[in-house]
Amino acid sequence: MGTELLTVKELNVGFVNKGQTIPVLSDVEFTVKKGETLCIVGESGCGKSLTSLSIMGLIPKNGEIMKGEILFKGEDLVKKTKKEISQIRGKQISMIFQEPMTSLNPVHTVGKQIAESVRLHEGVGKKQAMEKAVEMLRLVGIPSPEKRVHDYPFEMSGGMRQRVMIAMALVCNPNLLIADEPTTALDVTTQAQILGLMGRLKKELDMSIVMITHDLGVVSQIADRVIVMYAGKVIEVSETMDLIENPKHPYTRGLIESIPKLHEEQDDLPTIKGSVPGLNEMPKGCRFSTRCLYARQTCHEVEPTLTGEGQHKVSCWLHSPKWENLE
Ligand code: SF4
Repeated sequence: MGTELLTVKELNVGFVNKGQTIPVLSDVEFTVKKGETLCIVGESGCGKSLTSLSIMGLIPKNGEIMKGEILFKGEDLVKKTKKEISQIRGKQISMIFQEPMTSLNPVHTVGKQIAESVRLHEGVGKKQAMEKAVEMLRLVGIPSPEKRVHDYPFEMSGGMRQRVMIAMALVCNPNLLIADEPTTALDVTTQAQILGLMGRLKKELDMSIVMITHDLGVVSQIADRVIVMYAGKVIEVSETMDLIENPKHPYTRGLIESIPKLHEEQDDLPTIKGSVPGLNEMPKGCRFSTRCLYARQTCHEVEPTLTGEGQHKVSCWLHSPKWENLE
């Protein structure tokens, strides 16, 4: 795996409400190497989508980056103007979302929409842009692309529409593709096809992928490395197989234990009791302490930091050499 393409450092993002800034992301840190697929995992509300929107410069109006750096090819995206970011977005960094119907314009053919993206970033003529659209539909495995390029989004299946979204995202050959739950709305077979397609295109086009998902099955199929987020913080980071076989954080363990096992009879699947704390009710110490079976007094008072040797790091007192002596 190559050098670092994206480095997120101490990223703090908050939402302004009635003149007060409420922190949502706290000191989020990770790297994405060239040619790597990194998955960001966690329940709804853990901050994974806001992290990706921050990278794209698309945080909602009442949101603000309070602190931190987002270094893409060594340049800090946080310091870029809106115009500079819009030149990077779509060309060097692209994004696909869960539900293509909300991203595709229903009144234009898919060909026109892909071609517009080419014209915007590459400055080519209409004919050339439409030829590129056909080429992209072929690349993502849409049969008879010369005909389907004239289809409207409603004339295509969910899987086909997601392929169109991928074609649109990749048309300018980006270095980084951010995919936010791209297969959640699809059936299992189509999901496997889309993940296979993304893996193939990643190699062919030599790009990196950041995949946002709550589905550890997806992670095991596509990720080189994984970060687990909980309540706006990164709580574990590891290479994929090491995380699946040797999860360290009690939350990650809970997530893995709650996956149904194919060859085992299970009456009741284990679940993680409780829910993610609201933004206004974050516990003082470890953010998982209100749901953790191992919590001690120190966990409720002092927030652990991400530590560990090698690639596998965890934010949990249980893995501190001091654990035995903690109250
Ligand atoms: Fe549980 Fe304590 Fe670890 Fe938090 S720090 S996950 S409360 S053991």
